[in-house]
Amino acid sequence: MSTIPNEADFDAIVVGGSYAGLSAALQLARARRRVLVVDTGQRRNRFAHHSHGFLTQDGAEAAAIAALGRTQLQAYPTVSWREGGATHAAAGEEGFEVTLVDGARVSGRRLVLATGVVDELPPVEGLAERWGRTVFHCPYCHGYELDEGEIGVVASSELAMHHALLLPDWGRVTLFLNGAFEPDAAQLAALASRGVTLERTLVARIAGHADVVLHDGRTLPMAGLFVMPQMRMASPLAQQLGCAMETGHAGAFVRTDAMQASSVPGVFCCGDMARAAGNVAFAVAAGTMAGAAAHRSLIAELNA
Ligand code: FAD
Ligand code: MG
Repeated sequence: MSTIPNEADFDAIVVGGSYAGLSAALQLARARRRVLVVDTGQRRNRFAHHSHGFLTQDGAEAAAIAALGRTQLQAYPTVSWREGGATHAAAGEEGFEVTLVDGARVSGRRLVLATGVVDELPPVEGLAERWGRTVFHCPYCHGYELDEGEIGVVASSELAMHHALLLPDWGRVTLFLNGAFEPDAAQLAALASRGVTLERTLVARIAGHADVVLHDGRTLPMAGLFVMPQMRMASPLAQQLGCAMETGHAGAFVRTDAMQASSVPGVFCCGDMARAAGNVAFAVAAGTMAGAAAHRSLIAELNA
Protein backbone atom coordinates (compact mmCIF):
# COMPACT_ATOMS: atom_id res chain seq x y z
CA MET A 1 0.00 0.00 0.00
CA SER A 2 1.25 3.45 -0.88
CA THR A 3 2.39 5.83 1.82
CA ILE A 4 1.73 8.94 -0.26
CA PRO A 5 -1.09 10.78 1.51
CA ASN A 6 -2.77 11.82 -1.74
CA GLU A 7 -3.31 8.20 -2.66
CA ALA A 8 -5.84 7.51 0.05
CA ASP A 9 -9.18 6.44 -1.42
CA PHE A 10 -10.83 9.66 -0.25
CA ASP A 11 -9.84 13.09 0.99
CA ALA A 12 -12.31 12.60 3.82
CA ILE A 13 -14.55 9.87 5.13
CA VAL A 14 -17.67 11.02 6.95
CA VAL A 15 -19.18 8.37 9.19
CA GLY A 16 -22.83 9.17 9.88
CA GLY A 17 -25.00 10.65 7.13
CA SER A 18 -27.63 12.57 9.04
CA TYR A 19 -27.82 16.31 9.75
CA ALA A 20 -24.26 16.74 11.06
CA GLY A 21 -22.56 14.36 8.65
CA LEU A 22 -24.46 15.68 5.62
CA SER A 23 -23.48 19.22 6.49
CA ALA A 24 -19.82 18.26 6.88
CA ALA A 25 -19.80 16.36 3.60
CA LEU A 26 -21.47 19.29 1.81
CA GLN A 27 -18.59 21.65 2.61
CA LEU A 28 -16.05 19.10 1.41
CA ALA A 29 -18.04 18.39 -1.75
CA ARG A 30 -18.30 22.08 -2.52
CA ALA A 31 -14.50 22.21 -2.27
CA ARG A 32 -14.51 19.49 -4.96
CA ARG A 33 -12.91 17.02 -2.57
CA ARG A 34 -13.48 13.26 -2.76
CA VAL A 35 -15.70 12.45 0.18
CA LEU A 36 -17.25 9.17 1.22
CA VAL A 37 -20.31 9.12 3.47
CA VAL A 38 -20.96 5.88 5.37
CA ASP A 39 -24.36 5.67 7.02
CA THR A 40 -26.70 3.18 8.68
CA GLY A 41 -29.76 5.45 8.43
CA GLN A 42 -30.69 5.37 12.13
CA ARG A 43 -31.27 9.05 12.92
CA ARG A 44 -31.85 9.73 16.59
CA ASN A 45 -35.17 11.45 15.89
CA ARG A 46 -36.58 8.66 13.70
CA PHE A 47 -39.21 7.99 16.41
CA ALA A 48 -40.74 11.45 15.87
CA HIS A 49 -42.63 12.36 12.70
CA HIS A 50 -42.06 16.07 12.79
CA SER A 51 -39.10 18.23 13.70
CA HIS A 52 -39.41 21.67 15.24
CA GLY A 53 -37.22 24.67 15.89
CA PHE A 54 -34.88 24.54 12.87
CA LEU A 55 -35.23 27.74 10.86
CA THR A 56 -37.22 27.38 7.60
CA GLN A 57 -37.99 23.72 8.45
CA ASP A 58 -40.13 24.21 11.57
CA GLY A 59 -42.73 21.44 11.60
CA ALA A 60 -41.24 19.62 8.60
CA GLU A 61 -40.90 15.85 8.64
CA ALA A 62 -37.61 14.91 10.28
CA ALA A 63 -36.99 12.33 7.55
CA ALA A 64 -37.73 14.84 4.78
CA ILE A 65 -35.10 17.28 6.03
CA ALA A 66 -32.47 14.54 6.00
CA ALA A 67 -33.63 13.17 2.63
CA LEU A 68 -33.47 16.59 0.94
CA GLY A 69 -30.02 17.13 2.40
CA ARG A 70 -28.87 13.80 1.02
CA THR A 71 -30.34 14.47 -2.43
CA GLN A 72 -28.64 17.85 -2.66
CA LEU A 73 -25.32 16.41 -1.41
CA GLN A 74 -25.34 13.49 -3.82
CA ALA A 75 -25.69 15.87 -6.78
CA TYR A 76 -21.98 16.67 -6.31
CA PRO A 77 -19.82 14.38 -8.45
CA THR A 78 -17.06 13.87 -5.87
CA VAL A 79 -19.44 12.38 -3.30
CA SER A 80 -19.70 8.63 -2.73
CA TRP A 81 -22.22 6.98 -0.41
CA ARG A 82 -22.11 3.60 1.30
CA GLU A 83 -25.13 2.22 3.15
CA GLY A 84 -24.11 0.27 6.21
CA GLY A 85 -22.04 0.59 9.31
CA ALA A 86 -18.43 1.44 9.87
CA THR A 87 -17.23 -1.03 12.49
CA HIS A 88 -13.65 0.08 13.02
CA ALA A 89 -11.42 3.07 12.43
CA ALA A 90 -7.70 3.41 12.97
CA ALA A 91 -4.98 5.86 12.09
CA GLY A 92 -2.86 4.51 9.23
CA GLU A 93 -0.09 5.60 6.96
CA GLU A 94 -2.40 7.46 4.59
CA GLY A 95 -4.59 9.03 7.20
CA PHE A 96 -7.32 6.72 8.43
CA GLU A 97 -8.53 3.30 7.55
CA VAL A 98 -12.19 2.52 8.13
CA THR A 99 -13.57 -1.02 8.13
CA LEU A 100 -17.15 -1.42 6.95
CA VAL A 101 -19.63 -3.99 8.14
CA ASP A 102 -19.14 -6.08 4.97
CA GLY A 103 -15.42 -6.27 5.72
CA ALA A 104 -14.41 -3.74 3.06
CA ARG A 105 -11.73 -1.24 4.00
CA VAL A 106 -11.60 2.34 2.82
CA SER A 107 -9.00 4.99 3.52
CA GLY A 108 -9.36 8.71 3.95
CA ARG A 109 -6.89 11.46 4.72
CA ARG A 110 -9.30 12.98 7.20
CA LEU A 111 -12.09 11.47 9.25
CA VAL A 112 -15.32 13.18 10.27
CA LEU A 113 -17.40 11.33 12.83
CA ALA A 114 -21.09 12.29 13.01
CA THR A 115 -22.57 9.08 14.37
CA GLY A 116 -24.87 10.58 16.98
CA VAL A 117 -26.08 9.07 20.22
CA VAL A 118 -28.55 6.42 21.34
CA ASP A 119 -31.13 7.22 24.02
CA GLU A 120 -31.63 4.75 26.84
CA LEU A 121 -35.02 5.40 28.39
CA PRO A 122 -35.83 4.88 32.06
CA PRO A 123 -37.23 1.37 32.62
CA VAL A 124 -40.89 2.32 32.95
CA GLU A 125 -43.33 0.09 31.09
CA GLY A 126 -44.95 1.88 28.16
CA LEU A 127 -42.39 4.72 27.73
CA ALA A 128 -40.39 3.25 24.86
CA GLU A 129 -43.40 2.63 22.59
CA ARG A 130 -44.42 6.28 22.97
CA TRP A 131 -40.93 7.80 22.54
CA GLY A 132 -41.06 10.68 20.07
CA ARG A 133 -44.86 10.59 19.87
CA THR A 134 -46.12 11.47 23.36
CA VAL A 135 -42.92 10.92 25.37
CA PHE A 136 -40.13 13.46 24.83
CA HIS A 137 -36.99 14.94 26.33
CA CYS A 138 -36.74 18.37 24.62
CA PRO A 139 -39.36 20.98 25.56
CA TYR A 140 -38.26 23.31 22.76
CA CYS A 141 -38.79 20.53 20.20
CA HIS A 142 -42.17 19.22 21.36
CA GLY A 143 -43.54 21.36 24.19
CA TYR A 144 -45.52 23.85 22.11
CA GLU A 145 -47.67 21.17 20.45
CA LEU A 146 -48.99 20.05 23.87
CA ASP A 147 -51.30 23.11 23.72
CA GLU A 148 -50.73 24.11 27.35
CA GLY A 149 -52.30 20.84 28.51
CA GLU A 150 -51.33 18.44 31.31
CA ILE A 151 -47.61 17.61 31.21
CA GLY A 152 -46.05 14.82 33.23
CA VAL A 153 -42.35 14.70 34.16
CA VAL A 154 -41.35 11.14 35.06
CA ALA A 155 -38.23 11.40 37.22
CA SER A 156 -35.34 8.98 36.97
CA SER A 157 -32.92 11.20 38.89
CA GLU A 158 -32.65 14.67 40.39
CA LEU A 159 -32.16 15.95 36.82
CA ALA A 160 -35.97 15.87 36.57
CA MET A 161 -35.89 19.18 38.46
CA HIS A 162 -34.66 20.84 35.28
CA HIS A 163 -37.66 19.61 33.29
CA ALA A 164 -40.12 20.28 36.12
CA LEU A 165 -39.04 23.92 36.51
CA LEU A 166 -38.82 24.62 32.77
CA LEU A 167 -42.00 22.97 31.54
CA PRO A 168 -44.62 25.15 33.28
CA ASP A 169 -44.04 27.55 30.38
CA TRP A 170 -45.67 24.86 28.19
CA GLY A 171 -48.53 23.56 30.38
CA ARG A 172 -49.68 22.36 33.83
CA VAL A 173 -46.89 20.19 35.19
CA THR A 174 -47.03 17.14 37.46
CA LEU A 175 -43.68 15.80 38.65
CA PHE A 176 -43.85 12.03 39.17
CA LEU A 177 -40.98 11.43 41.60
CA ASN A 178 -41.27 7.65 41.11
CA GLY A 179 -38.88 7.02 43.99
CA ALA A 180 -35.98 8.55 42.05
CA PHE A 181 -35.20 11.36 44.51
CA GLU A 182 -36.81 13.45 47.22
CA PRO A 183 -36.69 17.23 46.70
CA ASP A 184 -35.07 19.21 49.53
CA ALA A 185 -36.68 22.31 51.03
CA ALA A 186 -35.21 24.68 48.44
CA GLN A 187 -36.31 22.43 45.59
CA LEU A 188 -39.82 22.13 47.04
CA ALA A 189 -40.04 25.92 47.25
CA ALA A 190 -38.85 26.28 43.65
CA LEU A 191 -41.39 23.70 42.44
CA ALA A 192 -44.17 25.45 44.36
CA SER A 193 -43.22 28.84 42.89
CA ARG A 194 -43.62 27.34 39.41
CA GLY A 195 -46.98 25.75 40.31
CA VAL A 196 -45.72 22.17 39.87
CA THR A 197 -47.86 19.37 41.36
CA LEU A 198 -45.89 16.60 43.11
CA GLU A 199 -46.88 12.94 42.89
CA ARG A 200 -44.99 10.49 45.11
CA THR A 201 -46.92 7.31 44.33
CA LEU A 202 -44.83 4.99 42.16
CA VAL A 203 -45.63 4.75 38.46
CA ALA A 204 -46.85 1.30 37.41
CA ARG A 205 -46.90 1.91 33.65
CA ILE A 206 -47.84 4.28 30.86
CA ALA A 207 -50.98 3.45 28.89
CA GLY A 208 -53.21 4.99 26.21
CA HIS A 209 -52.08 8.35 24.81
CA ALA A 210 -49.86 9.30 27.73
CA ASP A 211 -51.83 8.09 30.75
CA VAL A 212 -49.79 7.59 33.91
CA VAL A 213 -51.09 4.52 35.76
CA LEU A 214 -50.02 4.65 39.42
CA HIS A 215 -49.43 1.76 41.80
CA ASP A 216 -52.46 2.74 43.88
CA GLY A 217 -54.71 2.23 40.84
CA ARG A 218 -55.20 5.89 39.87
CA THR A 219 -54.72 6.89 36.23
CA LEU A 220 -53.67 10.45 35.41
CA PRO A 221 -54.13 11.28 31.68
CA MET A 222 -51.45 13.60 30.30
CA ALA A 223 -51.08 15.42 26.98
CA GLY A 224 -47.41 14.44 26.98
CA LEU A 225 -44.59 13.15 29.16
CA PHE A 226 -40.97 14.18 29.58
CA VAL A 227 -38.13 11.93 30.67
CA MET A 228 -34.34 12.31 30.78
CA PRO A 229 -32.75 9.46 28.82
CA GLN A 230 -29.17 8.32 29.31
CA MET A 231 -27.25 8.96 26.13
CA ARG A 232 -24.49 6.74 24.84
CA MET A 233 -22.32 6.90 21.73
CA ALA A 234 -24.07 5.25 18.76
CA SER A 235 -20.75 3.90 17.50
CA PRO A 236 -17.45 2.92 19.16
CA LEU A 237 -15.26 4.66 16.56
CA ALA A 238 -14.32 7.71 18.61
CA GLN A 239 -13.24 5.54 21.53
CA GLN A 240 -11.34 3.17 19.21
CA LEU A 241 -9.39 6.13 17.87
CA GLY A 242 -8.68 7.39 21.39
CA CYS A 243 -10.62 10.65 21.16
CA ALA A 244 -10.74 12.41 24.54
CA MET A 245 -14.22 12.47 26.04
CA GLU A 246 -16.11 14.83 28.30
CA THR A 247 -18.75 13.99 30.90
CA GLY A 248 -22.16 15.51 30.28
CA HIS A 249 -25.26 15.52 32.51
CA ALA A 250 -26.73 12.56 30.64
CA GLY A 251 -23.72 10.79 29.16
CA ALA A 252 -20.24 11.15 27.71
CA PHE A 253 -19.52 13.06 24.51
CA VAL A 254 -16.40 13.72 22.44
CA ARG A 255 -14.35 16.76 23.35
CA THR A 256 -13.79 19.10 20.41
CA ASP A 257 -12.34 22.56 19.93
CA ALA A 258 -14.09 25.48 18.22
CA MET A 259 -13.24 23.91 14.81
CA GLN A 260 -14.81 20.56 15.85
CA ALA A 261 -11.33 18.98 15.96
CA SER A 262 -11.09 16.09 18.42
CA SER A 263 -7.97 15.36 20.46
CA VAL A 264 -6.79 13.02 17.67
CA PRO A 265 -5.19 14.98 14.80
CA GLY A 266 -7.21 14.61 11.60
CA VAL A 267 -10.38 13.42 13.35
CA PHE A 268 -13.27 15.89 13.50
CA CYS A 269 -16.45 15.12 15.46
CA CYS A 270 -19.78 16.89 15.19
CA GLY A 271 -23.45 16.71 16.04
CA ASP A 272 -24.96 15.03 19.08
CA MET A 273 -21.88 12.88 19.69
CA ALA A 274 -19.81 15.99 20.34
CA ARG A 275 -21.99 18.08 22.64
CA ALA A 276 -23.87 17.69 25.92
CA ALA A 277 -27.31 18.24 24.38
CA GLY A 278 -28.08 18.50 20.69
CA ASN A 279 -30.67 19.45 18.14
CA VAL A 280 -30.86 19.67 14.35
CA ALA A 281 -29.66 23.28 14.13
CA PHE A 282 -26.65 22.59 16.36
CA ALA A 283 -25.84 19.45 14.34
CA VAL A 284 -25.98 21.35 11.05
CA ALA A 285 -23.80 24.14 12.45
CA ALA A 286 -21.20 21.77 13.90
CA GLY A 287 -21.16 19.67 10.73
CA THR A 288 -20.58 22.77 8.64
CA MET A 289 -17.62 23.69 10.82
CA ALA A 290 -16.23 20.14 10.84
CA GLY A 291 -16.40 19.90 7.05
CA ALA A 292 -14.72 23.25 6.51
CA ALA A 293 -12.08 22.51 9.16
CA ALA A 294 -11.34 19.07 7.72
CA HIS A 295 -10.93 20.66 4.29
CA ARG A 296 -8.72 23.42 5.60
CA SER A 297 -6.53 20.87 7.38
CA LEU A 298 -5.85 19.13 4.05
CA ILE A 299 -3.96 22.16 2.82
CA ALA A 300 -0.51 21.75 4.29
CA GLU A 301 0.50 25.40 4.02
CA LEU A 302 -2.41 26.44 6.23
CA ASN A 303 -1.15 24.11 8.95
CA ALA A 304 2.45 25.31 8.81
P1 FAD B 1 -28.20 11.61 14.09
O1 FAD B 1 -29.29 12.38 13.43
O2 FAD B 1 -28.57 10.75 15.23
O3 FAD B 1 -27.49 10.76 12.95
C1 FAD B 1 -26.43 9.89 13.20
C2 FAD B 1 -26.27 9.05 11.95
O4 FAD B 1 -25.08 8.23 12.06
C3 FAD B 1 -27.44 8.09 11.74
O5 FAD B 1 -27.87 8.14 10.40
C4 FAD B 1 -26.85 6.73 12.10
O6 FAD B 1 -27.46 5.66 11.41
C5 FAD B 1 -25.40 6.91 11.67
N1 FAD B 1 -24.45 5.99 12.30
C6 FAD B 1 -24.29 5.72 13.62
N2 FAD B 1 -23.31 4.83 13.81
C7 FAD B 1 -22.83 4.52 12.58
C8 FAD B 1 -21.79 3.68 12.12
N3 FAD B 1 -21.02 2.97 12.96
N4 FAD B 1 -21.56 3.60 10.79
C9 FAD B 1 -22.30 4.33 9.91
N5 FAD B 1 -23.30 5.17 10.30
C10 FAD B 1 -23.56 5.26 11.61
N6 FAD B 1 -34.05 18.14 17.25
C11 FAD B 1 -34.64 19.26 16.72
O7 FAD B 1 -33.94 20.20 16.35
N7 FAD B 1 -36.00 19.35 16.62
C12 FAD B 1 -36.84 18.34 16.98
O8 FAD B 1 -38.06 18.45 16.88
C13 FAD B 1 -36.24 17.16 17.52
N8 FAD B 1 -37.01 16.13 17.91
C14 FAD B 1 -36.44 15.02 18.44
C15 FAD B 1 -37.27 13.97 18.83
C16 FAD B 1 -36.74 12.83 19.42
C17 FAD B 1 -37.63 11.74 19.85
C18 FAD B 1 -35.33 12.73 19.59
C19 FAD B 1 -34.73 11.54 20.23
C20 FAD B 1 -34.50 13.78 19.18
C21 FAD B 1 -35.04 14.92 18.60
N9 FAD B 1 -34.25 15.98 18.17
C22 FAD B 1 -34.82 17.11 17.63
C23 FAD B 1 -32.77 15.91 18.28
C24 FAD B 1 -32.17 15.47 16.94
O9 FAD B 1 -32.71 14.21 16.57
C25 FAD B 1 -30.64 15.35 17.05
O10 FAD B 1 -30.08 16.49 17.65
C26 FAD B 1 -30.04 15.18 15.65
O11 FAD B 1 -30.56 14.02 15.03
C27 FAD B 1 -28.51 15.09 15.72
O12 FAD B 1 -27.99 14.91 14.42
P2 FAD B 1 -26.67 14.07 14.18
O13 FAD B 1 -26.40 14.16 12.73
O14 FAD B 1 -25.62 14.47 15.14
O15 FAD B 1 -27.05 12.58 14.61
MG1 MG C 1 -24.78 13.06 11.30
